[in-house]
Amino acid sequence: MKRLLLAGGGHAHVGVLERFAREPLADVDVTLVSPFARQVYSGMLPGWIAGHYALEECVIALAPLAQAAGARLHLAHVARLDLQNRIAYTEAAEAIPFDVLSLDTGPVIDPDAIPGLAQHAIPLRPIEALIAQWQRLLAHFAEAASGQTVTVIGGGAGGVELALAIAHRAQTVPCALRVQLVAGRAGLLPSLTHTVRARLRRLIDARGVRLIEDDAVEIGRHTVLLADGGELTSDATIVAIGAAAAPWFGASGLATDEAGFVAVNEYLQSTSHPFVFAAGDCATMLAHRRPKSGVYAVRAGAPLARNLRRALAGRPLVRYRPQKRALYLLSAGDKYAVASWGPWSAEGAWVWRWKDRIDRRFIARYARPPVVNRAVAAG
Ligand SMILES: Cc1cc2nc3c(=O)[nH]c(=O)nc-3n(C[C@H](O)[C@H](O)[C@H](O)COP(=O)(O)OP(=O)(O)OC[C@H]3O[C@@H](n4cnc5c(N)ncnc54)[C@H](O)[C@@H]3O)c2cc1C
Repeated sequence: MKRLLLAGGGHAHVGVLERFAREPLADVDVTLVSPFARQVYSGMLPGWIAGHYALEECVIALAPLAQAAGARLHLAHVARLDLQNRIAYTEAAEAIPFDVLSLDTGPVIDPDAIPGLAQHAIPLRPIEALIAQWQRLLAHFAEAASGQTVTVIGGGAGGVELALAIAHRAQTVPCALRVQLVAGRAGLLPSLTHTVRARLRRLIDARGVRLIEDDAVEIGRHTVLLADGGELTSDATIVAIGAAAAPWFGASGLATDEAGFVAVNEYLQSTSHPFVFAAGDCATMLAHRRPKSGVYAVRAGAPLARNLRRALAGRPLVRYRPQKRALYLLSAGDKYAVASWGPWSAEGAWVWRWKDRIDRRFIARYARPPVVNRAVAAG
């Protein structure tokens, strides 16, 4: 029997599992390795921080999804690959042999990106750690006798949404909280259009978030140093800087792009090891580079499932070309959001309701995995 190892329960792999649940793989032993038994949907994380959702509404339970797909869930963190012998090793040095490996382990925050980050800041990832820290912070802020300052470092979509969500939560708790966003010298949302940037800039201002368009160069216990020499006071610093690659991809001998992400071809297959597939933020399709975003990770689910099925059966793979544009819906703290699609943009409470519907539908799809009579399906 062939062994398929799915590393990470990210956006692409939940799609793969859902497809395997609907159409089971015959004679394949499937293992899903994930450090957590649930996948927090990052698109709804700002809404949870803002207080619009309970945490249970924002998570996909991996155990029932894996079970429906006929897969075993193994709670662990892949730390190393022996590609010659096709074995993945966990952090606890357990060996998991495989015939075909698929990676969807997402990005990491580089702990060395800013001096002091590892000691004094709360990184956005792993998201489970951020969730635990945010719950502690919120309790602390609500009890604090004097006003507190939270700094979010990172001017991309994640950082902007987080800063606005925190500012909104501070009003509803209520607590005396100042929020500042250190967006970097490249400025706010550098990959989006001028109009979208202007919309968010206005909303950030209207919601009382202080915007600093400079680089953070050092994080202290209660400070953030800026490239221009300025020093900010900060009681809590959250780092939402861009996605970095996990170092174990390159260290294992997998071909990577210049930033260390797994290099894949149009079949979502490693350019160096054909029995390894990768999708989502951990991978870069060399022929069609796209921004690292959840939209592309979700879209990769269907072609990845198809090609894993074909690879395991020894059949020819099918090419996949990701769409050129993605719809971004950025929440602004309260139930208001900005939409961006290529040169088009819009904003309003209706955009937030639109995003809410899309996000809830995404979660619902995996919350009730299809029930398949496996004996019949396999026969
Ligand atoms: C606050 C915030 C808001 C965002 N909003 C949007 C949005 O609205 N739209 C959008 O398109 N994008 C958004 N993004 C970006 C989006 O979150 C990422 O692009 C997306 O999560 C990438 O999906 P993925 O499947 O590659 O990885 P992930 O979603 O990160 O999933 C990876 C999984 O792998 C697991 N894992 C990690 N390491 C290992 C390991 N070594 N072994 C086993 N398992 C491992 C992790 O626990 C995780 O469950 C947002 C990001 C943030 C932080």
